[in-house]
Amino acid sequence: MDEPKNTYDADVIIVGGGPVGAVLALALSQGAPELLRVTVLEAQADSAPRTDTRTLALSYGSRLILERVGIWQQLQAATPITRIHISQRGSFGRAMLSAEEAGMPALGYVISYAELQNALQAALRQCGARYLTGAQVSALTPGVAATQVQFTQAGEDKTLSARLAVLADGGRGLKQIPGIVRESRDYQQSAVVCHVSTALPHQYLAYERFTEDGPAALLPSGKDYALVWTATPQRAQALLALSDAEFLAQLHAHFGDRQGDFLSVGKRSSFALGLQQSKPTTGPRLALIGNAAQMLHPVAGQGFNMGLRDAWELAQTILACEPSTIGSAEMLRGYVAGRRLDTQGGVFFTDLLVRGFSNAIPGLRQLRGLALNALDTLPLAKSFVVRRMIFGAKG
Ligand SMILES: Cc1cc2nc3c(=O)[nH]c(=O)nc-3n(C[C@H](O)[C@H](O)[C@H](O)COP(=O)(O)OP(=O)(O)OC[C@H]3O[C@@H](n4cnc5c(N)ncnc54)[C@H](O)[C@@H]3O)c2cc1C
Repeated sequence: MDEPKNTYDADVIIVGGGPVGAVLALALSQGAPELLRVTVLEAQADSAPRTDTRTLALSYGSRLILERVGIWQQLQAATPITRIHISQRGSFGRAMLSAEEAGMPALGYVISYAELQNALQAALRQCGARYLTGAQVSALTPGVAATQVQFTQAGEDKTLSARLAVLADGGRGLKQIPGIVRESRDYQQSAVVCHVSTALPHQYLAYERFTEDGPAALLPSGKDYALVWTATPQRAQALLALSDAEFLAQLHAHFGDRQGDFLSVGKRSSFALGLQQSKPTTGPRLALIGNAAQMLHPVAGQGFNMGLRDAWELAQTILACEPSTIGSAEMLRGYVAGRRLDTQGGVFFTDLLVRGFSNAIPGLRQLRGLALNALDTLPLAKSFVVRRMIFGAKG
């Protein structure tokens, strides 16, 4: 029998109004505006400036999700990627993936994290969900019938309960989650991110270049390139400290001549990289999505795309069930089963790329070269990789 609605403060409480939590809230609010009571708790204050310098490569599949929640239409500055050149430094082997060959308008799109986040925040304020900012969640207490969510807002301690709490805090927010353990792998790599301009126009061509220190990517962004340069943490610190001219010269040596000279560089910042997986990704009246569930290395730009699919699939699972069964063990089992192949495949693929390509093991370089050439020449292999990048396991 259904419980009375006022037993809970909300049907769903989402902890974290980052891009993944925000998309879940939008999808739920649009799917059942009268039936569902959704609350989003976001630690950052409304007035906090969005200074995140990350650039995200969104797959075509992510574009479709953002279109469905009405956000894509507002992202004026998304730059399409029509080709991706993949190579390894200091050896043979290259592959070119193209949207035309894949029969898609684009392989993906490049967007700034801050711009995406601004568009999502504006939509969150209007979507009918209760959106509390400056709300720092400190503990989750899952129970049989509801999860209690404790948080502090404007210096006041508060508690709300929900049939289902969804943790979308990016994996670095809550340290203790009852029943969940976090497994992590430190790649001993950091990413230096910035914008650079090149002598030759990008013509929507992206580069992924594997080196012994880690992969480096150039993503077309506006008229320039967004750079994600992976290196050891020590080298990343040294790269941040270089003068602009020295940085550009080292980048040229790292990437080669394909885009001509590197002419200018914007503000540089760095991110520590690793793999973190939460096990399991659900508990009683609890689900973890996005980076809270799996934090991936940015190689091949999988993390947010996968988080977006988590949010979309969870929303569809919630919308498809009777309100009284939201957060039940059966509902959560169905969600996990639907996501398993995609998330496990994505973690495996990303980890394989990072560990298989970031080393100088004799013989492996030749093997990698052969693998890249095979990818370039075998249409089936190419189509598999492109569809996996775009749609995840469902591709
Ligand atoms: C250098 C770099 C490049 C990347 N490039 C790509 C790419 O090209 N493509 C791609 O798909 N992915 C990429 N990623 C990964 C991508 O950034 C993440 O997967 C994505 O941001 C995850 O979104 P999220 O909403 O899960 O978490 P986050 O973006 O971390 O958002 C979490 C939100 O939760 C809030 N929060 C945290 N703790 C609490 C709390 N206790 N209470 C309340 N709120 C809280 C935070 O303020 C934040 O708003 C990259 C990552 C890095 C580091």
